[in-house]
Amino acid sequence: MNTIAKPVARPVAEKTLRHPAELLESGLIPPDRLAAVEAVAARYAVAITAEMAELIDPADPADPIGRQFVPDPAEFETTPDETDDPIGDEIHQVTEGLIHRYPDRALLKFVHACAVYCRFCFRRETVGPQASHLSPKALENVLAYIRNQPEIWEVIVSGGDPLIASPRRIRTLVHDLAQIDHVRIVRFHTRVPMVAPDRVTDGLVDALTAPGLTTWLAVHANHPGEFTPAARAALARLADAGIPLVSQTVLLAGINDDPETITGLMRAFVENRVKPYYLHHGDLAPGTGHFRTTIAEGQALMRALRGRVSGLCQPTYVLDIPGGYGKVPVGPDHVSESNGCLTIEDYCGGRHTYRPG
Ligand SMILES: *Cc1c(COP(=O)(O)O)cnc(C)c1O
Ligand code: SF4
Repeated sequence: MNTIAKPVARPVAEKTLRHPAELLESGLIPPDRLAAVEAVAARYAVAITAEMAELIDPADPADPIGRQFVPDPAEFETTPDETDDPIGDEIHQVTEGLIHRYPDRALLKFVHACAVYCRFCFRRETVGPQASHLSPKALENVLAYIRNQPEIWEVIVSGGDPLIASPRRIRTLVHDLAQIDHVRIVRFHTRVPMVAPDRVTDGLVDALTAPGLTTWLAVHANHPGEFTPAARAALARLADAGIPLVSQTVLLAGINDDPETITGLMRAFVENRVKPYYLHHGDLAPGTGHFRTTIAEGQALMRALRGRVSGLCQPTYVLDIPGGYGKVPVGPDHVSESNGCLTIEDYCGGRHTYRPG
């Protein structure tokens, strides 16, 4: 007899849930929340893949997967600091779809749709199912810009989620970039291996690489529960193809802002050949205040990881400075200076004077 009972018996979704009525039907929201969820869905895109829906315990309002994807009336609570363009994409947009903020790399918003819509998304005002693709003409302009900028060494393919594009379209893009001598790296940022792992087919994996170009892939995951057997298998297909994998996590209050969860998450990445890269402080996107921690809380979490957990499991904690000034590490700082003397703090909190020479 199977002794592992599901908390609540409910129909298993076979396709992506996009409408509040479907969330109700599949038991993810109770009838008395339908109106509130409909109001949120009229404002911000909703999509929960079958794989993610299956992980959610609807009886638990704090469910770490449910809170990432099920619309919440708290999304109508905005603060004066929140803006539609929290990381300043617009001022660095050089041609439609291309953000060139740093000298050696440019970010391409290849598609505007995603497999899931995260309730805390930093681009929530620009992503959604209605605008799905960059037009062929816009993409031609992007490629022309990149060809004319010899300092662009890396192209970051983002969105939306670029891995929802067809393998054919991705293959064409990668081959077009491979034709440009100064572009050495293409880096895809995606949530697909975790939230829609069956999309990571051999055909898709093959489309990501081309001779003359090195492909990296940044995987977005926020909770160890996202590492289902199917997600692990999708990551293995990418790693087995020789594609180096790095991680991206958004620090989310009540979801992953405690030492046990963040340790479990970083270890899950490393166990699946994904090197922890960035832990993002929550951006000032509209209606996402209920997900944001303070920077001091994020620093305390990073202190908890340092020394106690393998160095392989350490991400860099970064803030994307509002206004388009870029990402910077925001600590914690282990070095302080006073009267020309350096004090270094060890992972247990002990302080040591450092006097070289
Ligand atoms: C995040 C981001 C990058 C990539 O930054 P890295 O620090 O290299 O990961 C590049 N361009 C833009 C516009 C970005 O937002
Ligand atoms: S996958 Fe990325 S771009 Fe898409 S909704 Fe989530 S955070 Fe936003």
